[in-house]
Amino acid sequence: MTANIDPAELEKFGALASRWWDPESEFKPLHDINPARAGYIDEHLNIAGLKVVDIGCGGGILTEALAQRGAQTTGIDMSEAPLKVAKLHALEAELTIDYRQITAEALADEAAGSFDVVTCLEMLEHVPDPSSVIQAVERLLKPGGRAFFSTINRNPKAWAMAIVGAEYIMRLLPRGTHEYRKLIRPAELNRWAMDAGLKVTGMRGMHYNPLTRRTRLNDDVSVNYLLTAVKPVVE
Ligand code: SAH
Repeated sequence: MTANIDPAELEKFGALASRWWDPESEFKPLHDINPARAGYIDEHLNIAGLKVVDIGCGGGILTEALAQRGAQTTGIDMSEAPLKVAKLHALEAELTIDYRQITAEALADEAAGSFDVVTCLEMLEHVPDPSSVIQAVERLLKPGGRAFFSTINRNPKAWAMAIVGAEYIMRLLPRGTHEYRKLIRPAELNRWAMDAGLKVTGMRGMHYNPLTRRTRLNDDVSVNYLLTAVKPVVE
């Protein structure tokens, strides 16, 4: 069985890895949206003391926010250079995070049912088979556990904002960061989550203004959005 990875995607992130923690770099948008997406997680539960795995963690911007909240945190990614950066940064920040180069699918084979929370943000649009990652998320969770996903919608407005606007006009992200055909409609993400056996409990639009560098959450999911789901407890 071949792993659910796209080597070109992993290289893309690998090449930029040294700048991951520079808030003025290509990763500026991830730094700027981080408090809002961590806040979305906080709205649903207090993760202090819980076992959390961050899938596609990259250099660890969200992973560290989870660890700072007192979660027992694991971060996984398939690109080597971002993981190295993540490990060094956690050391400097004096945070204990278990960083590993492993796919969600392989970790689910090894550690099924062992996490209270799984986060998978800005990652699904970079893999060949997002539904397989979502199935792995369901397997990783304990019954009653909660998952968080975020990605970019696929429609003309999302193309104009997230690709043309961000990559060509504002030059926030390198050209080719996002491919239109890999973007994911909320209905698709919702169906994959349901098919995996997860119960979707919420969805929010995420709006980032690169000029003010502020992020707002609301009900407009036409471009960036977050979704949360729970793994039902079987009686
Ligand atoms: N989740 C982080 C980083 C997003 S960038 C954040 O939001 O801050 C997307 C990350 O997904 C990159 O680090 C890339 O290496 C990783 N990735 C891509 N395909 C992957 C796969 N199949 N398994 C694990 N990580 C993957």
